[in-house]
Amino acid sequence: MTLQEIIALDKKYYMNTFGDRLPVCFVKGEGIKLWDTEGKVYYDFLAGIAVNALGHSHPAVVNAIMEQAQKLIHCSNYYYIESQAKLAQLIAENSCCDRVFFANSGAEANEGAIKLARLFFRKKGFPEKFEIITLEKSFHGRTLATLAATAQEKYQKNYSPLTPKFLSVPMNDIDALEKAITEYTCAVMLEPIQGESGVNPADKDYIRQVRELCDRKGIILIFDEVQCGIGRTGKLFAYEHFGVEPDIFTLAKALGGGFPIGALCAKEPFASAFEPGDHGSTFGGNPLACSTAYAALSTIINENLSENSAIMGEYLISRLNQLKDEYSFIREVRGKGLMIALEFNTSIAVEVKLKALEKGFLIGSVGNNIVRMLPPLIITKEDIDLFISALDDILKEYY
Ligand SMILES: *Cc1c(COP(=O)(O)O)cnc(C)c1O
Repeated sequence: MTLQEIIALDKKYYMNTFGDRLPVCFVKGEGIKLWDTEGKVYYDFLAGIAVNALGHSHPAVVNAIMEQAQKLIHCSNYYYIESQAKLAQLIAENSCCDRVFFANSGAEANEGAIKLARLFFRKKGFPEKFEIITLEKSFHGRTLATLAATAQEKYQKNYSPLTPKFLSVPMNDIDALEKAITEYTCAVMLEPIQGESGVNPADKDYIRQVRELCDRKGIILIFDEVQCGIGRTGKLFAYEHFGVEPDIFTLAKALGGGFPIGALCAKEPFASAFEPGDHGSTFGGNPLACSTAYAALSTIINENLSENSAIMGEYLISRLNQLKDEYSFIREVRGKGLMIALEFNTSIAVEVKLKALEKGFLIGSVGNNIVRMLPPLIITKEDIDLFISALDDILKEYY
């Protein structure tokens, strides 16, 4: 089909949740590169929104899918699943958690975290502790509960009444958090580095104070590492940057190397609050998803791609800072590892994104002033140099 035919079909039959998409349809990917219906090549500096950590069609991921699909795709959780057990072990042995539960997405993993936090206190005899505090500008998903946790008006406004008992406080304001905690609070849930609101890292001191506060008040600390986990920020898990450990954390996006899977990860004694019948999933943890995620995650660990993310991230940030020195309309370059945003003083983000697309580079925009980069962890210096030179050409037009 031609691009025009695909667009016409989409406009007629697909629900219009994405409006006018960027006018491209990809047919093939390899490494950081993508090809569209016309044969044009693109460098993917967005990696399917932090999903394709190993780039496109990585042989480890492709082989795992093909081999497992030929053997067994799905069998349900009535039975034991080898790759599910092994993937849980791989995550537990490389993180602070003791046990894992698999879901199909980030929102679903977060739903599990919310349920687990409430259940933990209910089983201890505190059913009134069901309130969860989140941070302003957070993003936790699109299901009703995770939408209630997502403290951004634009996502929530048309769905009231929201699931009750979520409230939000500003990031990096420990007093606001302390004031918000009551006898009803069961957990604080936060992204250590916020993604969807434009890459906003929490201060190290703040995260440490949040950990102390949760310990002092006896409430659970949940980290949403759906976007910032799995090597994205230059460490396997973002919490490692802060010198604290969450009680519960969630993963998704990059976990399956492109295949949908989410994970709810918890330390004891929290993990054991889930007992038979308390939670479940039809598709979650199926053989295909788990074999694929095992291949993706073990490749990231064995090839030390978190370190490549740290080194390449530092390089990309330094090159972006050179552009900032040149162009006064760049307000800020921020990020960690390969989770990076560039904020402008003016509303040119969408235009810059479109011009980058024209030049064959995929980046994202957040609102009108911020562009975002989440390239695959396998990125090289040469890829970055090509991108910076294209971006430089684009920004020159605004000088
Ligand atoms: C993307 C994202 C989610 C939602 O994940 P889905 O797989 O889209 O449900 C939740 N939290 C964070 C931090 C995310 O970036």
